[in-house]
Amino acid sequence: MTKGKINVSVDNIFPLIKKFLYSDHEIFLRELISNASDATLKLKHLNKLGEAKVDYGSPKIEVKIDKKAGKLHIIDQGLGMTKEEVEKYINEVAFSGAEEFIDQYKDKLEDSGIIGHFGLGFYSAFMVSEKVEILTKSYKDEPAVHWSCDGSPEFTLETCDKKDRGTEIILHLDKDSKEFLEEARINTLLNKYNKFMPVPIKFGTKEETLPLPEGADKDAKPETKTVDNIVNNTNPAWTIPPADLKDEDYKAFYRELYPMQFEAPLFQIHLNVDYPFNLTGILYFPKLNNDLNLQKDRIQLYQNQVFVTDNVEGIVPEFLTMLRGVIDSPDIPLNVSRSYLQADGAVKKISSYISRKVADKLNSMFKDDRESFENKWNDVKVVIEYGMLSDHKFFEKAEKFALYPTVDGKYYTFEELQEKVKPHQTDKDDKLVLLYASSIEEQHSYIEQAKAKGYEILLLDSPIVSHLIQKLESSQEKLSFVRIDSDHIDNLIKKEDTTISKLSDDEKSNFETLLKKQISEDKYAVQLEAMDSDAPPFLITQPEFMRRMKEMQQTGGGGMFGMGNMPEMYNLVVNTNHELIGKILGTKTEAKQQRLIKQGVDLARLSQGLLKGEELTGFISRSYELIK
Ligand code: ADP
Ligand code: MG
Repeated sequence: MTKGKINVSVDNIFPLIKKFLYSDHEIFLRELISNASDATLKLKHLNKLGEAKVDYGSPKIEVKIDKKAGKLHIIDQGLGMTKEEVEKYINEVAFSGAEEFIDQYKDKLEDSGIIGHFGLGFYSAFMVSEKVEILTKSYKDEPAVHWSCDGSPEFTLETCDKKDRGTEIILHLDKDSKEFLEEARINTLLNKYNKFMPVPIKFGTKEETLPLPEGADKDAKPETKTVDNIVNNTNPAWTIPPADLKDEDYKAFYRELYPMQFEAPLFQIHLNVDYPFNLTGILYFPKLNNDLNLQKDRIQLYQNQVFVTDNVEGIVPEFLTMLRGVIDSPDIPLNVSRSYLQADGAVKKISSYISRKVADKLNSMFKDDRESFENKWNDVKVVIEYGMLSDHKFFEKAEKFALYPTVDGKYYTFEELQEKVKPHQTDKDDKLVLLYASSIEEQHSYIEQAKAKGYEILLLDSPIVSHLIQKLESSQEKLSFVRIDSDHIDNLIKKEDTTISKLSDDEKSNFETLLKKQISEDKYAVQLEAMDSDAPPFLITQPEFMRRMKEMQQTGGGGMFGMGNMPEMYNLVVNTNHELIGKILGTKTEAKQQRLIKQGVDLARLSQGLLKGEELTGFISRSYELIK
């Protein structure tokens, strides 16, 4: 028997392991199963290369709880280790640099919770164990060995009589880690980290109902058989060539990934690249609503089919983090902090590759089946619009397929839209004016008026649309977006002035004085206009600029204009050509004039939803008085 000291440059690595890697004890199981999987796959390769001549069979990994003895076993049928190999790989761990390394990274380490990538994977077993044993028999014709270590740097190593090839790790769980003797806890962990690992993992057994033999009595009780309970899918969809997958396969895999999501995804993008970096994955576009904060299920990051994290910040472009799915890449450095990650060249390439792939896919969907793409537009537009705002390369690509829906359910690309409206919606200064509404319900009367003029009205209702509009306007000269309720229809697209005012300047200023007694001037800016006599006498509009700035401020980004909280500001437009205005001016007593003005202004406020509470109650009883 060999006795010795694990070759560590510090006196005792174990307190270090426990202290600095404390945050995420549970990953010990992931690490040990990863080692078991590596050992199994290594043997497979050696066999293929003819370097090992063994009966590979159909190896699996087994996780076993021995509750009575307080032990957890992880057993594999992989290549095993000879005595020399245990000495080399286990005893002389990459420990020499460990203390230094942990010292250097301790701030970043604490929340990363990642240790396997420091070559400390096996030793994570000591986070939960007071003693760890290895029983291992190499595929080479050499005696099996038994290694044991009680958490101090001292270990024992001796030959033993293990017969079958492979390695068994036995953890004697310490008193703080008894949770890992619970079946449910282990199940949760296997489901989280190992659900898609490439080697079958057995955890206990289950009863399987056998099909009834042919011609059997219908009432016969089907027989059951005890079979291995395999917890993982060894061939998840992302590892299969896209050509071999049908749409149903992708949908089935989505359900496997997110069992709690009942709604099927709209479509998916299969990522597959091996140069200059290695990455596979599937990104799903779920049906997204307009609430950007409500997207819960996240993209999962794997490395060689082992789950690492569902925080893909920095790796996936931010606008795509609303998607779902998996990304698997061994090339993402994870043993570093997030801020470093974002600056890392390889990671940047990965991020822009993903962005490009998504743009290409959307473009080909648009080209191949425009109608179906249009049908999906409202469910995916948030992602695309967000992408256009935050990623200029994506913006350029998206110009080809980004759609602008109208209130009549038509969809234009930006180019088509401009062509279509140019003859009708160019104002007297040669500026192209694009009209839009944010709600068909709320802006109904404005929409009707614009339609009557033959204008095309877009329906832009996503939460970040004000930012996007701003961006589009700045990308092109002589272009402006105007919301349908931001002014009277005749003012939205100013053509040559033709209407002559029926009121003299004196009458106008007279009326203005009367009006200002009725309204609060820091909320309403009065605007007297000579419009068609059939246009309403009073009209409340919200100026495009003010409203847009306010919206942008609410969805972030307003700060860049250095503004405080923007007040609500409205225009009160008076149509000086309307009969009622003339009538008010001709009315005898001022009290009566004021009553008429108040009623008129309140009607305008009512149509904008601005009349509420006590004022609304007052308005209604006054109106009853009038019709009595
Ligand atoms: P890493 O997996 O990053 O190499 P670990 O500390 O997890 O680091 O493991 C160290 C080494 O011990 C492995 O590289 C492997 O050579 C050996 N090893 C660990 N577990 C097993 C196992 N179950 N079967 C065979 N070899 C193993
Ligand atoms: Mg390992």
